[in-house]
Amino acid sequence: MNLEPKVGRPASPVLRHIISVDVEDYFQVEAFADRISRDSWDTWPSRVVTNTYKVLDLFDRYEVRGTFFFLGWVAIRFPSLVREVAARGHELACHSFWHRPIYSLSPAQFREDTRMARDAIQQPSGARLLGYRAPTWSITSKSLWALDVLAEEGFVYDSSIYPINHDLCGIPKARRFPYVHRCSNGRSLCEFPPTTVRLAGVNFPGAGGGYLRVFPFAYTRWIFRHIPRKHGQPLVVYFHPWELDPDQPRIRHKLRSHFRHYTNLRRMESRIEHLLRNHRFQPFQEFLSANNTRQPEAGKLENRSAAPRSVVVPMADARPQAGAACTAANGSQL
Ligand SMILES: [Zn+2]
Repeated sequence: MNLEPKVGRPASPVLRHIISVDVEDYFQVEAFADRISRDSWDTWPSRVVTNTYKVLDLFDRYEVRGTFFFLGWVAIRFPSLVREVAARGHELACHSFWHRPIYSLSPAQFREDTRMARDAIQQPSGARLLGYRAPTWSITSKSLWALDVLAEEGFVYDSSIYPINHDLCGIPKARRFPYVHRCSNGRSLCEFPPTTVRLAGVNFPGAGGGYLRVFPFAYTRWIFRHIPRKHGQPLVVYFHPWELDPDQPRIRHKLRSHFRHYTNLRRMESRIEHLLRNHRFQPFQEFLSANNTRQPEAGKLENRSAAPRSVVVPMADARPQAGAACTAANGSQL
């Protein structure tokens, strides 16, 4: 592995990576969930609006548009923030309402939570939500049924399955690049795993959240060269507004949670800025639209077969009742 420290210019002038922001406050993370009850969220000083504006201004500076997965709880309290994100040209998507791990819910509870969140985000913006991201990447082998529910609720894509071994999430043998998932109810969803690298037969997390902060930044820069070069695929990058807020109130907790949440908060903004300056990014929706146009752009959705085929995603027809939203270029259902 070559961990050269410099990136002179974008590694790939054509490839546009996918960038996303999970809009939640610093006290709503799973690491503190056993200490901070959801009933008490209203009593904590909120910093999500200020921090999200910080992200929006950074994105504006580098003319980057991304996907913002809103927590419904945040959207319902700060509808003007939802409108601002949409007004600046970003895609709105859903990050649940209560930030509960999906494997802790029944399918009926999950459906109710998803509908509440979707309504809270759609109502102020008028946007039709296409994408979902589970709290704490909690679509695992125990909760794959959630993809059926999402497809039934009209979502077109999901970005919730982390192909790693982790104590809270992950399906270690899941596919590592965007693909079309056929649900057990016959519908389909496009799945966008967060970026991983495979070393010695093991998948390691790549360009997201705590891993962007905790790992040496040379590792991140290497991944941004390695993935496009070896796989011709865009990276799926994510982070949270609270990660750009080193002055947030400190919550006392066990060492592991403390490490995951607070390490390198002061370095995060400059790291994100470095990526925005040196690479090109897009929201999920634009990646899907680009596939729809069948333009010869690097980074295609993979079909279930070994040989990738181009995929058409009929965005205009992606109504809640439309069922399977992803169809193959030859018109057949995937
Ligand atoms: Zn989250």
